[in-house]
Amino acid sequence: MSVSIFSEEELRYEIIRVMKALYDRGLVSALGGNVSARIPGSDTVWITPSGVFKGDLKLDDLVKINLDGEVIEGFMKPSVEWPMHTAIYRVRPDINAVIHAHNPITTGLALAGIELKPITVEAVVTLRSVPVIPFAYPGTDELAKLVAERVKGVRALILQNHGVVALGYNLVEAEAIVETLEEVALTQLVAMLASGGREIPMIPERDRELISKLYF
Ligand code: 13P
Ligand code: ZN
Repeated sequence: MSVSIFSEEELRYEIIRVMKALYDRGLVSALGGNVSARIPGSDTVWITPSGVFKGDLKLDDLVKINLDGEVIEGFMKPSVEWPMHTAIYRVRPDINAVIHAHNPITTGLALAGIELKPITVEAVVTLRSVPVIPFAYPGTDELAKLVAERVKGVRALILQNHGVVALGYNLVEAEAIVETLEEVALTQLVAMLASGGREIPMIPERDRELISKLYF
């Protein structure tokens, strides 16, 4: 039984809106990043096309696939990252939206070996732990497998030398996670640079516990 409040057409418009918003914020690039949404309660997914400019997608550019990547509707080639998106939907029945973005600051900090810290309430609530997945070539089954192995219980992952993946119950939730990753990474970077290497204050442990009790 479908529990969606969106029609499929609304879901497709929402994918295009999210892509444009992320493109405008510099979190996906002309040809980097992809978005998918599961039709809730089903094994079918709408996903962005491969190799098409991300800032101005049209409704007919989107492709409907099943969890084996077979095209059910649409004329374009699905994103090369469809194995990663569908691998996530297979192991996380609670997830209906997956965004792969190319957040420059989040990805850069991870490359420098710097973990995101609980420096803001959003970081504590939204991110919790963010695993870093070792480099695997984009679009491969190897990348999909590595992500699927680490995706239980997380909202976001970092793909080393590549970008990020955010999961949501719906597209707005996944979009918020992509934005929060970059906001926390930027705040942390500014604090590190401006403090000249001094230790950055975190949200105190007891407040983190309280936040966990309130939100989880
Ligand atoms: P697609 O255009 O095939 O979605 O690929 C973009 C990308 O970011 C691959 O990791
Ligand atoms: Zn990518």
